[in-house]
Amino acid sequence: MEKKLQNSGNDCPGNTCPKNPVIRLTKEFSFEMAHVLNGYDGPCRNIHGHSYKLFITVKGSPCNDIRNPKYGMVIDFGVLKEIVNSLIVNRYDHALIIRETPENHTLLKELKANFPKIEIVNYQPTCENMIAYFAAEIQKELPQHIELHHLKLHETATSFAEWYREDNL
Ligand SMILES: [Zn+2]
Repeated sequence: MEKKLQNSGNDCPGNTCPKNPVIRLTKEFSFEMAHVLNGYDGPCRNIHGHSYKLFITVKGSPCNDIRNPKYGMVIDFGVLKEIVNSLIVNRYDHALIIRETPENHTLLKELKANFPKIEIVNYQPTCENMIAYFAAEIQKELPQHIELHHLKLHETATSFAEWYREDNL
């Protein structure tokens, strides 16, 4: 017992964090969004909604500057939350995302005039395309020393898409 107490000070290797460990951090977000897949041959060709879940994973080493208020953190979860909320959640929550085609130009104009959250895009708004777009947007806003490692976007409880940086170098 006495021996154990003697070893429990700062010199004990058990109390020392490894130098510059590489850590992945994940934050989860959710938003409700409607979409429509123009030209698709399944049920998603109708306007309908999903409860999307988005997982963002970043990678880096915890700050080792003891004077920095973010000491011990890879990135403040609050900072990550602000970035993703401003780029994704605030923009897409309760929005309708729809691809512009030569045929629906007039309809989109009408929708825009009547509803505040219509996102008109030039790509098919599938889970796959949206996650690739989200990754590019988030990557632009992350601090330079933080790597976007991967994203996971759930369209339903059992269907999701993943984007990995290593696949997209
Ligand atoms: Zn759908």
